[in-house]
Amino acid sequence: MICLTGDIHHSSLKINEQSYIPERCDSEVKIAGRYLQLVEEFGLKVTFYVTGKTLKQEWRDFRPISCSPLVEIGGHTYSGLPRSLLSRFRSRITGVPTVSHAATPGSYGKQRRDTARMIRIAEKRTGQRIVSWRSHGLVSDGNTYPILKRLGIRFISDDLSWEKYHPETTAEGLISHPLNVIMDHDHIYHAHRSEDYVEHQKENWGLVTDPTRESYRIGEWADIVEDQVKKIEKTGGVATVLMHPLCMYIADRFETVRRLFKLFSNFTTIWARETEMYLPR
Ligand SMILES: [Zn+2]
Ligand SMILES: [Zn+2]
Repeated sequence: MICLTGDIHHSSLKINEQSYIPERCDSEVKIAGRYLQLVEEFGLKVTFYVTGKTLKQEWRDFRPISCSPLVEIGGHTYSGLPRSLLSRFRSRITGVPTVSHAATPGSYGKQRRDTARMIRIAEKRTGQRIVSWRSHGLVSDGNTYPILKRLGIRFISDDLSWEKYHPETTAEGLISHPLNVIMDHDHIYHAHRSEDYVEHQKENWGLVTDPTRESYRIGEWADIVEDQVKKIEKTGGVATVLMHPLCMYIADRFETVRRLFKLFSNFTTIWARETEMYLPR
């Protein structure tokens, strides 16, 4: 079983990678629309975790995505944890590589408000209540899951663990399907993530909590994805794959998407909200 996922962010968040989109009239959402055409071509299903502001500000472009019978919409925070002006200014002065989001999700009240807004805008736009969630930048704290649970979210995909082949229930009662396949953004040289940038980033904080600190050329990364997916399939587990439409487009204009979707089309793809069926008995 493969749970194919992609995260989508609003243009006004101005994450670093969006500045690598070559055409001025193009956007992360429009790129996701073209990615979805490939999902359709290969007969897959996909869960898109989308920020609330995308639904608020770019609904015209996002609407066709939300109407696809192959798509589940999940929450990805309302605001995308924008960094403070001060923090952006500081990294410009010090030259320390920037990340695209704040380091913490903020106070309990702030998180609760943000989560509730995400759920509300999704329901307003699509007429459906979201049940799946991924924290933007995988940034969460002790308040995050109790808030999600209280507000009706049931499925979470934040845990980075290559050893867990099956979903599991968290202490708060959410169903977690871990990212057990090497994810794209943090492991591929693309956009601003040049070899120099990655070395510099490692020196400064190191991705110590990651299953691997290494980055690869996209072809080598795809080799690893293929191996991991096949291995998990053999055991009857759920392989949760994160392939951002934006990263895949910037890296090689979806060439690797075609390669991996072809492999995935040999297996069953499921939405995040279907992972419950694969909890170990
Ligand atoms: Zn994100
Ligand atoms: Zn990326």
